Amino acid sequence: MDRRKVQQCFAGLDYDFTAFDIDHFIVYVQQLRQRPIISQSFPFSAGISGLWLEMATVDFIIYQSRTHPIHQTHIRLHEVAHMLLDHPRQPIRDSLPAEMLRELTAAGTPSQTMRGHLRMREVNRRCNAFEEEAEYFVELLQRRVVKADRLSELTRTGTSIRSLARYVDGLPYAAKYPDDLQK
Ligand SMILES: [Zn+2]
Repeated sequence: MDRRKVQQCFAGLDYDFTAFDIDHFIVYVQQLRQRPIISQSFPFSAGISGLWLEMATVDFIIYQSRTHPIHQTHIRLHEVAHMLLDHPRQPIRDSLPAEMLRELTAAGTPSQTMRGHLRMREVNRRCNAFEEEAEYFVELLQRRVVKADRLSELTRTGTSIRSLARYVDGLPYAAKYPDDLQK
């Protein structure tokens, strides 16, 4: 995977992480890309946890309804990462659940435009550089969210930023990739 590319993409976001929540972030990405993103849960059968479906004028993020909200947020961020990293889309029509396919077809979506990314089980993801990049992007983002939370904590208690940095830098996210902290 191209870690430098992911870092540059993330740094270029220019998003205020002190305002982070998943919906706020996705609204920001919509504005950035000038395309609507429709986020929706779906009771996928085992094996699929979510997908990004790129249509002519809109992007769908469809995530597993039968999982913990924390995991759902992760899936949504993962799909957003694919968008922002401009990963090549693949035809995913044949992998879509029949019910979803019916709805999309009924809504007038030509099947050849059903392209995007499908998030499958661990075993299918491991050897794919695009999947690794999307996960790395989410990891960079999580670290920034952790830091932002600490900073808002800081303003409440009046502790200095310098003394706080010791603790933040010791968090798992920072420890895993110590050489590429952003900003
Ligand atoms: Zn993926």
